[in-house]
Parts: sequence; structure tokens; C-alpha cells
Amino acid sequence: MTTDFVTAWITRFGELIQENQAMLTELDSPIGDADHGGNMARGMSAAVPALTEAANLEAQLKGLGMTMLSKVGGTSGPLYGTFFLKAAKELGSQTEVSDEVFISALRAGLDGLIGRGKAELGDKTMVDAITPAIEALEAAGDVEHGATKALEAAEAGRDATTPMLAKKGRASYLGDRSIGHQDPGATSATMLFEALAGVVA
Ligand code: ADP
Ligand code: MG
Repeated sequence: MTTDFVTAWITRFGELIQENQAMLTELDSPIGDADHGGNMARGMSAAVPALTEAANLEAQLKGLGMTMLSKVGGTSGPLYGTFFLKAAKELGSQTEVSDEVFISALRAGLDGLIGRGKAELGDKTMVDAITPAIEALEAAGDVEHGATKALEAAEAGRDATTPMLAKKGRASYLGDRSIGHQDPGATSATMLFEALAGVVA
């Protein structure tokens, strides 16, 4: 996994966010405050141009994490920010790492996100999409074989948020009324794996 790969991956993620901005905001309307699409689009347009200038994998993902932290805002900005900052630390100042190291960096990112947000599986958050996706990558052992399975797992996790009762974030304020709506954060997080699968293909 190289800096060029990360640039392609995150650039594609940014494109998917921009293309789906309205849909993400629409999902955040009934169970949130209708800002998730705008939040993510603002963060990604600030983050993507810096990817090619960063000298190594750590610098790329640290820059991405810091920008998401400061520009995305809301609850999801600090959570995505933590995900990428923790992953960056695992990758270190290298320009190329093995798939194994890359996948374990994503796991470290998820651990950091969960440490910060305290969401468990089934709480109707982005964790419900990211966790099975990373498990699929770990099971496959490499990104080329795992990316499509990771996308399928993220999609299934995302779709499973619809009947869930939200236990974290703004949607949890709605109690039972959060049931029946797909989680916006799980939807944007699935795009991270859609981008990964797209770049590998
Ligand atoms: P806000 O809710 O502050 O407006 P966003 O709309 O940008 O922030 O993001 C909402 C998303 O954040 C939710 O759909 C959910 O996936 C995610 N989220 C909220 N709280 C948590 C948490 N504690 N842990 C993980 N994800 C969370
Ligand atoms: Mg919101």
C-alpha cells in the first residue's frame, strides 16, 4: 500500500461524498439536524488537495484526520478525525507498507474511534458499518481480495442500522422514533469501503 494508493482511495471517497451530499443530508433530516452531507463535503474538499503534497502515509492520514476534525464538525468530524489520526500513527513515516500493516492501521483507527465515541455494535452509528468491513479485510488478509467483501460487509452493516434504535448521538434523543431510518454516518462510512473496492478493482 503506497501513498499513491491512499491518494486514489481518499480522492474517490471525497468524490462519493460530494456526489451523495444531498442524500446524506436527507438521511440526517428525520433523525438528526440535516447537516451530515454538508459537514462531510466541506471536510473532504479541504482534505483531498493536501494528499499529494504529504511526504508519507502518516503525513497523508494525519492531514486528513486533522482536517476532518477541524472542518467536518458535528459529532462525526472528531470521530472520523480520530479514525484517521490513529491509523496514521500506526503507519508511521513510510511511503509503502504491507497490506497486513495497512489493515492493522485501520483496526487501530476503529479502536480509537470507539474509544472516543463509546458506541457499541448495534447502537446505530458508523461503527455498525466500519466494524464488519474491517473484519472482512482481516479475514481476507489482503486488500485486493478483501476490498469487495469489506464493501459488502459495510453495506450489510449500514442496511442493518435501519431497524435499530439509536443509542448514541443526536438520533438517540428520538428514542423509538429513530427506528426505521438508515443511519447517515454508517452511510458515509460505507463510501470509504466503496472507494477502497473501486480503487482496487
Ligand atoms: P451531528 O450528529 O453532530 O450533527 P453528523 O450529522 O455529522 O453530526 O454525524 C452524525 C453521525 O455520527 C451519526 O449518523 C452516527 O453514525 C455518528 N455518530 C454519532 N454519535 C456517535 C458515536 N458516539 N459513536 C460513533 N458514531 C457516532
Ligand atoms: Mg447531523
